[in-house]
Amino acid sequence: MIRVRGLSKSFGALQVLNDCNLTVRRGEVVVVCGPSGSGKSTFVKCLNGIETFQVGEIVVDGRSLKLRGREADRMRARVGMVFQHFELYPHLTVIENICLAPIHVLKRTRQEAQAKARALLARVGLSDKEAAYPAQLSGGQQQRIAIVRALAMDPIAMLFDEPTSALDPEMIGEVLAVMLELAREGMTMVVVTHEMGFAKAAADRIVFMDKGEILEVTETKRFFEAPKSERARIFLSRILGH
Ligand code: ADP
Ligand code: MG
Repeated sequence: MIRVRGLSKSFGALQVLNDCNLTVRRGEVVVVCGPSGSGKSTFVKCLNGIETFQVGEIVVDGRSLKLRGREADRMRARVGMVFQHFELYPHLTVIENICLAPIHVLKRTRQEAQAKARALLARVGLSDKEAAYPAQLSGGQQQRIAIVRALAMDPIAMLFDEPTSALDPEMIGEVLAVMLELAREGMTMVVVTHEMGFAKAAADRIVFMDKGEILEVTETKRFFEAPKSERARIFLSRILGH
């Protein structure tokens, strides 16, 4: 489904990704972790064409992202992305936020888009919020809406970049629950997170990054029992130790 080969990327003189390789199968859930600044955000942004890259190849569902421009634009519409900050449009209601791209990019009718939006809102328990504005919602609710907005595009895969790290602790669980359900339904997912409980429950494999490199890609149980790399061992003892 997603195949990354020899991916390298620099911002000017700063090399941020160095020869990264990863294959994600259809329906697989991969959690990406590693120290701050190791290139996790840049890596997932490359996967749906938000970031360009200089070296290597990314193939998503048989389409190469090596060719930028139009192909990357198309990929952005087919691969859903949820960021740390909710990034809902503040001047639009919940249902308008969700229907915007399906109407303008997928050319769905307003009725079709709204029917789909309502079904998705029901799934995340937010049917009563369709006419609310983002500022009237909690952070956890906004993030669940951001997930719904991405799902409304019928994505072939979903990418998450620290979706719960800006949330108050009591709201983290409700967002992870939605993500866990998606994982169980068979969505192909790449999730940057330090929520190791989620990783253990949902991930098939763990990608560990450090200094722009993918140091290991390890089956989840094995990663937590005995990571292959020394740096992953140190990282794990730090985040599980506190
Ligand atoms: P992570 O998500 O693992 O914390 P990032 O992918 O955000 O790491 O960043 C990796 C490195 O790339 C960092 O050194 C960061 O400062 C740098 N970086 C990220 N985005 C940019 C940018 N737009 N311009 C220049 N440097 C950047
Ligand atoms: Mg990041």
